[in-house]
Amino acid sequence: MVRVALSLVVFSLLLSACSAPTDRDNLAALHRQERTTAAQADALTSEQSLALAANDFSSKARLQALAQQQNLVVLSTYTPYQGSQARIYGSTALGCIDGAVAVTESDDLKFQHWGKGRNFAHPIMAQYLQDLKQRLKAQGLPPLVVGDIGLQYGGPYGPKSNHASHNTGLDVDLPFFFAPEHKEVASHPDVYIVRGQKVLPTFTVDIAQLIVSASSDPRVDRVFVAPMIKMQMCQLYEHAPANGFLHKLRPWFGHQAHMHVRLKCPSDSPNCVSQAPIPAGTGCGYEVESWFLPPPPQSKTAQPAPKPKKVLPQQCKLLWARKRK
Ligand SMILES: [Zn+2]
Repeated sequence: MVRVALSLVVFSLLLSACSAPTDRDNLAALHRQERTTAAQADALTSEQSLALAANDFSSKARLQALAQQQNLVVLSTYTPYQGSQARIYGSTALGCIDGAVAVTESDDLKFQHWGKGRNFAHPIMAQYLQDLKQRLKAQGLPPLVVGDIGLQYGGPYGPKSNHASHNTGLDVDLPFFFAPEHKEVASHPDVYIVRGQKVLPTFTVDIAQLIVSASSDPRVDRVFVAPMIKMQMCQLYEHAPANGFLHKLRPWFGHQAHMHVRLKCPSDSPNCVSQAPIPAGTGCGYEVESWFLPPPPQSKTAQPAPKPKKVLPQQCKLLWARKRK
């Protein structure tokens, strides 16, 4: 119902754009629609309410309950998210964010510099990173290293980038090395921990712990790692307690020198489009092993299904037009 309502919102905005009102008119309409959508969200069916509750991070107790439900280690250090001015429009693959905050370096968080102005995050991501760096510290691990997060107003990085997402301040790349105390790592070379099906000596116990810590968080939707990393993590933790993080670890191409953490849509961004849920289970066994099997022979007559056309939300066009002025 919400998706239908959102389509109607976007459709009506597109219609109103045809009669060329000013950006200010459009934004006023947008905010009215946002309030309407939020009101509609209050009237959800019980099934949808449950789905929404999965991104209610408004109290420490709530985060702890979710961690328990997801079979994750329950922490005493979560920072609750009690709402912000930031709003996300669209998906992490094609969307934008108004109100992103800059994540800055500190003694316990360093950037491996991949490009200019890529340190903007939704406030919930900034809180997640703060919590993660504290968690690493509590485990006696060296400072956290962060790669790309997002641009100030979101959106794609441009044709020269190989990021297919990072559009909404909910994605972060975490390289597989730590920062030595009081040293800059801006131009540190990438550290591969696997190459194809080979596990390298750089895949240390501390790096495994970094992957566990980053993915053991109820705010995390999924974490992309190379298939061999998922395989190795399954071997290490499949029979361990609190191994619900394995469900969130998703094998994907690349990701041999960093993991890509994606957070869930915050509940106060009704226009944030979530990715389809991950299938139930750890994803160990056949699911990860299938990445190493030869591809099935292709039928000569089979035509690949056309990919659905990606549409940039109208709100993003308006936002970027307003910010460029
Ligand atoms: Zn990434």
